[in-house]
Amino acid sequence: MAKKLATNTDESAVDAPVLATLSPSRASDFKTCPQLYKFRAIDKIPTAPTVHLARGTTIHLALERLFQLPAAERTPDRLYDLFRESWSELKPLEYADLFDSVEAERSWGIEGLNMLATYFSIEDPTSFDPVELEMELLVDVDHMKIRGILDRMEEVEEIGPDGEKRTALVITDYKTGRAPDQRYANNAFFALKIYALLIRISRGVTPTRIRLLYLNGPTEYTMEITDGLLDAMQQHLAALWGAIESAIANDHWPPKISPLCNWCDFKDTICPAWEDERTADTKGEGAIPNG
Ligand code: SF4
Repeated sequence: MAKKLATNTDESAVDAPVLATLSPSRASDFKTCPQLYKFRAIDKIPTAPTVHLARGTTIHLALERLFQLPAAERTPDRLYDLFRESWSELKPLEYADLFDSVEAERSWGIEGLNMLATYFSIEDPTSFDPVELEMELLVDVDHMKIRGILDRMEEVEEIGPDGEKRTALVITDYKTGRAPDQRYANNAFFALKIYALLIRISRGVTPTRIRLLYLNGPTEYTMEITDGLLDAMQQHLAALWGAIESAIANDHWPPKISPLCNWCDFKDTICPAWEDERTADTKGEGAIPNG
């Protein structure tokens, strides 16, 4: 019989070996490293807030609020004010101890404002009205329940490939980290392809395109969506869901060592794959990670 998990999570088992819901973020974690998924989704180990997370959260909130204003008010200065206001609200709630000094916080703020200035070089927010902002999704996909929050969706009037006018349904995601090289951009669309699938199922309309806006660039990657692509994503999700259910049932979470470990919250603390290295560090020796 499968082991009972000492956990209570909406991302995984609810005190039973059953996967209840799955988000694109956690699905991506499992693909990256099953052990990472366990730390986050099953054990729910809290991690310290970072300046990168704080910036991403604040920028997303400011951009959401920008589009709640009348189009004529969506100016750079208004967006900068929204960034400051959003930070004033978020800081005491989640990031009170993030900065050691006023100078560090000021420098962080300037970087955020620079990203928002970059945003205006990618698109003109006065030229369209989103149909959805920070849209919460919980959709049945076959036997799975997939959840997530989509940054923005808009309808765009344009000329299609057949030369006819059309209304394109576009899903847009803001990124505040560094853009991947073009060769690896396809991987970055993983979550947006899932969101496009959820929109197709819940609205009966296949989105036309998905976009990643890297504000730390600017870099914009776009991908045209087809039903075939979403069918493939649905199969991929089913395979992932099955693999996670199997991992839960067997309590088997193999660590997957990769360069991404260098950005993992658990490498220097509890990841079993790096235990020897941590021990060697404390003794001043060198070591290779456990596979
Ligand atoms: S440090 Fe690497 S192996 Fe360990 S949990 Fe993180 S990603 Fe997985």
